[in-house]
Amino acid sequence: MKLPVYLDNHATTRVDPRVIEVMVPLMSEGYGNSASRQHEFGWRAEAEVERARASVASLVGAQPEEIVFTSGATESINLALKGLAEARGSRGNHIVTAATEHKAVLDVCARLERMGFRVTTLSVDGEGLVDPEDVKKAITSATILVSIMTANNEIGTIAPVEEIGAICRAKGVPFHTDATQAAGKIPLDVDAMHIDMLSLSAHKMYGPKGVGALYVRSSANSLKIEPQIDGGGHERGLRSGTLNVPGIAGFGKAASLAATEMRFESRQLGMLRDRLVEGLSAAVDGLRVNGHLTRRLPHNANVTIPGVNADALMMAMKDVAVSSGSACSSATPEPSHVLQAIGLGREEVLSSLRFGLGRFTAEEEIDYAVRRVSEAAVAIRQGRRQMQFAH
Ligand SMILES: *Cc1c(COP(=O)(O)O)cnc(C)c1O
Repeated sequence: MKLPVYLDNHATTRVDPRVIEVMVPLMSEGYGNSASRQHEFGWRAEAEVERARASVASLVGAQPEEIVFTSGATESINLALKGLAEARGSRGNHIVTAATEHKAVLDVCARLERMGFRVTTLSVDGEGLVDPEDVKKAITSATILVSIMTANNEIGTIAPVEEIGAICRAKGVPFHTDATQAAGKIPLDVDAMHIDMLSLSAHKMYGPKGVGALYVRSSANSLKIEPQIDGGGHERGLRSGTLNVPGIAGFGKAASLAATEMRFESRQLGMLRDRLVEGLSAAVDGLRVNGHLTRRLPHNANVTIPGVNADALMMAMKDVAVSSGSACSSATPEPSHVLQAIGLGREEVLSSLRFGLGRFTAEEEIDYAVRRVSEAAVAIRQGRRQMQFAH
């Protein structure tokens, strides 16, 4: 077993070697610009981009022409929310989202609010679920967009996307979902789930960093959004700029691998995750699992270890890479807004750890992590008790 053990796959994933194999030739001899229409170099690049577009579309049940390539999910979300707000601003000014969304959604909503839009941020239950009835009640005649994530990046809870989508469709309100953590992990179908826009990112599914996509419905109930980056008219005018051909081709490969391997892989990951949680629960008194116990991503485990500061725990076991409740979703460490939204107090948030398993996680790594986390937790608790006696 190679140390350190990587169990932070919600932050990013290792690029699959089969993805790298597709990318490297496109940086050496296949370096053409996919917009060059007059020669072989451009044609090859364009063919690679179009192949990738079909793979990414297929992963979410979309048509290739409904996929816009971006620099990642953050950009996709910005394009979806700001692009729609700009296109529909004259029809209404109200947006509905939820408290447990990624900062990429919440911060964009905050900016739109400063620009005069009104944002309803729905609360979630103790397991992180948004109630579709709350979405229904929040929608008014001024609502121009509902944005609810498919699966949460900290606690793994999977939202009732299909029900929410059906409500939005019935009310004629466009529905965007941030599927960055769900894509390639659980089956997605934009038609069956009544999704109008969907954001995803290559680096969360064993592809490269800096590449993502936005699905924008263009078949039935086609949706108009305004571009946020102008110049050159690439991507049907929705996102100008020379395409990241190697990155996009890698994304396409990652999407087709996920499509074929998802079912088997998810079952394996679910078993490893259960082994992790059972091992930790047996070794650490009072450990609690956060999030929903069944409606959750197979590779996620988020736990609270009462009386053990998660950052101290991580310092005590540097050869296991996980993340803590203080730094799960943003560049600036602050107590997780997701854990707070499901009702955890400040102390509990700071005693929480997130594990993200992945395609390359081995059983012996899980057993090693269980041992290291339990030892460190017991040691920290003992240390605290000794301190209390000393005082
Ligand atoms: C990682 C992540 C993002 C941001 O994706 P980038 O491609 O890194 O910009 C957005 N939403 C969720 C749920 C994520 O996990």
